Amino acid sequence: MSRAVAISWLGLFAIVLLGAERPPGLADVRDVRHWSYKNYTRVVVELSGPTGRSEVKRLAADRKAGRPERIYLDLPNVWVGTRYADPIRVGDGLLRGIRLGQNRATASRLVIDLERYERHRLFQLTSPDRLVLDIYAHRGPHGGTITARHPSAQKAPRGAPPALKAAPSPRTSLRPVHTVVIDPGHGGDDPGAVGVGGVREKDVTLRLARELALRLRERGFQVFLTRERDQKVSLEARTAFAEGKGADVFVSIHANAARRRGAHGIETYFLDKGHERHSLRVAARENGVPPNELDALQRAVAGLKVSEMSIQSRSLARAVHGKMVKGVRKTHGSVKDLGVKQAPFHVLFLSGMPSILIETGFVTHPQEAKRLASRFYRAVLAEQIARGLSSYRSERSAKLARHAS
Ligand SMILES: [Zn+2]
Repeated sequence: MSRAVAISWLGLFAIVLLGAERPPGLADVRDVRHWSYKNYTRVVVELSGPTGRSEVKRLAADRKAGRPERIYLDLPNVWVGTRYADPIRVGDGLLRGIRLGQNRATASRLVIDLERYERHRLFQLTSPDRLVLDIYAHRGPHGGTITARHPSAQKAPRGAPPALKAAPSPRTSLRPVHTVVIDPGHGGDDPGAVGVGGVREKDVTLRLARELALRLRERGFQVFLTRERDQKVSLEARTAFAEGKGADVFVSIHANAARRRGAHGIETYFLDKGHERHSLRVAARENGVPPNELDALQRAVAGLKVSEMSIQSRSLARAVHGKMVKGVRKTHGSVKDLGVKQAPFHVLFLSGMPSILIETGFVTHPQEAKRLASRFYRAVLAEQIARGLSSYRSERSAKLARHAS
């Protein structure tokens, strides 16, 4: 296909498809959402069914045709028809807009018109089926914006698409820990687990998060919460928020639940590729994925490059988990140490910084439900998590000092 044809595909296919029959068995585009931050934008395309594996491609600006630099992605088995014939305007300094069109009878194409671009990440998730596309622009030496184009984009020969920089993670180089995003799980019409005495996970997580924020600020951290009140926030929005705030670490707070009333204890998760069945079940519940989709969940994580970040996340998990268990034992006598574990939580792989998810206890266990509902227990946990984060911060500063010398 010549470039001219490739470039004019949207207009061309819109004409060809006017009045075209829709083949059976295709998924619909349910919604397109986006979140904009200073050097980062997330686009989510929600579908009514699965699409095939897809690859992001990049096209250089075509000044003659008045087209900006853009990236695009084909969505096999997706029908969009002419629903998004009008582009979605974004204009946030990174994205000019989003377009979706029927590229072939059995495939749609997502096009992002760019204003600034450095790299991207793409995730394909299930329940609901969706694509998450993260786009990053350059960050200056002090977090400021660099408006110049990437050098490789300037050097590219005329007409040739610039090199594509798919980023497995935006922050592979270490820097001091300063900004913490705390993510109180669930909220709004999603109560999370509901346990003995009607203790609701969403209340436990928010109260604990507020306690933790106070204690971290006292220690000099900059702290943001993904929600400040009882409201529903999607997993994509939570992690986009952390990316957008330039967080150095992400801490998601949850409470556990089990069919077996006897189950109790604290466990802390980070993202890596090996998982036990129990961990997968916890991840499925927190992701809102039915248990019969555990395999799909595992496959999604298998395709990620997690090694670099998971080393950091594991250190963070160990630092925090150790302090929690020790602290609760001191004040409450005993707590079962369920350990530091690996699992494919969406909140862990959608965030690009060292990230952990803490299951602070089982609301389905009579004694633990009582503890989680008590201000004292939450204060103890918050204090210990803050100590864990402080020791992780020191650990990392020491490492950076060694590198510098
Ligand atoms: Zn939860």
